[in-house]
Amino acid sequence: MEKQDPAVEFAFDADDLLGEGPVWSATEQALYWVDIKYPRVRRWTPATGEQAAWSVPEEIGSMALRVQGGMVLALQHGFATLDLEDGTVTTLHDPEPDQAGNRFNDGKCDAQGRFWAGTMDEEEKVASGSLYRLDADLESQRIVEGVICSNGLGWSPDGGLMYYTDTRTHRIDVFDFDAATGDIANRRTFAEIPADHGVPDGLTVDAEGALWVACWGGWRVIRFAPDGLVDREVMMPVPQPTSCTFGGPSLSRLYVTSAKVGLDQAVLERAPKSGCIFAIDTETRGQGDHHFAG
Ligand code: CA
Repeated sequence: MEKQDPAVEFAFDADDLLGEGPVWSATEQALYWVDIKYPRVRRWTPATGEQAAWSVPEEIGSMALRVQGGMVLALQHGFATLDLEDGTVTTLHDPEPDQAGNRFNDGKCDAQGRFWAGTMDEEEKVASGSLYRLDADLESQRIVEGVICSNGLGWSPDGGLMYYTDTRTHRIDVFDFDAATGDIANRRTFAEIPADHGVPDGLTVDAEGALWVACWGGWRVIRFAPDGLVDREVMMPVPQPTSCTFGGPSLSRLYVTSAKVGLDQAVLERAPKSGCIFAIDTETRGQGDHHFAG
């Protein structure tokens, strides 16, 4: 392990098994995220220390806040909604009922309020996963097929590009994105993560169009400039950072989730904060997380 970057602060003692999918609520000044394996949705309000959690009936890959209130969820086997007032989970539909060995993984809303979420082979061997787009009418479309482990998503500030990671390729790819229709085209490689830096997991795109990518197994978060070149590597005190998003009053504080699942005792002793939330004050700011329009 290289030396931890002094910019990394221990933020919240989440103790998640597999913390993931952070979403910042600007109105509440609160961070939401999921513990995929617990499974539950969590919320922490940094200014007050208040926390809350909502249990869900099966593994949860990701979620987004809805314009109308509550959340849309990508559960193990399909889309659902969560009423944050009473905790009710309501199933919408499973877009791939024939894929029992898959589960949903990362998801995120684009600026137009469509919720994108992908599936993965639980054993990460077969390209049985897909990336779906859930539109405001609650219908979903299969957009990308042949995915082993659908993961990080993000969009350029001008809305012209969509970034996407199938972790097993070790690449972050980029598509041309039609913001009006939600169509994607012209997939190509944006950046590749060297094997000894871990694999690309969740990501966020800042207001300058640079990507912050959590590198699972790599003890780091890497910032890629819009041209795909490495701009900064932030060394973390945990081997499995999972995802990140910008929060705080000025959207300049990067919150990073992490996981302890799968780590042996020796690694846990070196990285006892695995599963907790970290924060990095940056010189840039985020675009802000979008709500689901449906
Ligand atoms: Ca992930």
